[in-house]
Amino acid sequence: MSVLRLTNMITFYPGPSKIYPQITNYLQDAVAEGILSVNHRSEPFMRLLEDTAAKLRQRLYIPANYRIYLTSSATECWEIVAQSLTAQYSTHVYNGAFGSKWAEYTERLGKTVVRQPFEMNKLPDFAGVRPQEVVCLTHNETSNGTMLAAWPHLGDETLVAVDATSSMAGVVLDWSMADVWFASVQKCFGLPAGLAVMVCSPKALRRAEAIGERNHYNSVLFMDENFAQFQTHYTPNVLGIYLLNRVLAQIPDIQTTATQLNQRAKDFYDFVEQQTHYQLLVENAAVRSPTVLALKCEASDLKLLKNRAQQAGIVLGNGYGAWKNDTFRIANFPAITNADFELLKTLLCI
Ligand SMILES: *Cc1c(COP(=O)(O)O)cnc(C)c1O
Repeated sequence: MSVLRLTNMITFYPGPSKIYPQITNYLQDAVAEGILSVNHRSEPFMRLLEDTAAKLRQRLYIPANYRIYLTSSATECWEIVAQSLTAQYSTHVYNGAFGSKWAEYTERLGKTVVRQPFEMNKLPDFAGVRPQEVVCLTHNETSNGTMLAAWPHLGDETLVAVDATSSMAGVVLDWSMADVWFASVQKCFGLPAGLAVMVCSPKALRRAEAIGERNHYNSVLFMDENFAQFQTHYTPNVLGIYLLNRVLAQIPDIQTTATQLNQRAKDFYDFVEQQTHYQLLVENAAVRSPTVLALKCEASDLKLLKNRAQQAGIVLGNGYGAWKNDTFRIANFPAITNADFELLKTLLCI
């Protein structure tokens, strides 16, 4: 028996976050079905991978001509974009810690990074963005609870790569607006960490071919060849893939989920403004995220709140980076129930 006993806590942490309760049964099924011991070049695994990709496509409305790959994490996807899809230049437009980290990782891999930070309550001024090769955007900035819902066409020569880690499977994405999309599964997918979904447009594939980078186990061209045969480029997280498959079978299509989450976010934002003494970190309602809700208060108040939350069996998300001491974050992810939110409201009301 483990020393960790966290099972009675309700977590609103924006990743890792609450997993679907059905996971308990799916774990047992995975063992019973024997999938965890099969070779990843075998027929049963290939069927699992093919079916999982098909379910992702169907549930999330991913276009038929976009490729779907599975990797280990969003961080890995940052590096894949830098390694395989960036010859030299990448432009990073961001307003928070995750976007900034992506720029750092890219720089460390020897690319020339142009940073275009923007103010949290504003939209980026794309007129001032001179896109070169690849433009990297963070769709939902998990560190501060903002969402960049749209951007202009950035030119036929430009690849647009989007980190949608805390929005994919919670928000309807317009896939045609970008060439690379990725997300790890411990946020809106309601799954344990250790797996990420990466989606590439035909244009991204053409770019990968033009660059021809094959130096890494996770080079896009190598991944593409493997996934075309429903195989993977390394021994994969079969359990994670199995759980993703089962969760995709269980959840409604993304339009239904997104509508519910949007409404719950709106209700919660109204509730905070009208019935609590907390402030919303993001003042501009137009850029507030529907999936990561950031609240602000005095640092001393935050300590008290966290103690009370702990006693009530509720885990709040810490503030992140520059917002560490006077903000907290609430995940509004699909696996979190309305009943969970009602409990949270009673905590915040006092
Ligand atoms: C959580 C998160 C990441 C990091 O995900 P990993 O799975 O830990 O690599 C990256 N970007 C965003 C926007 C995130 O929310």
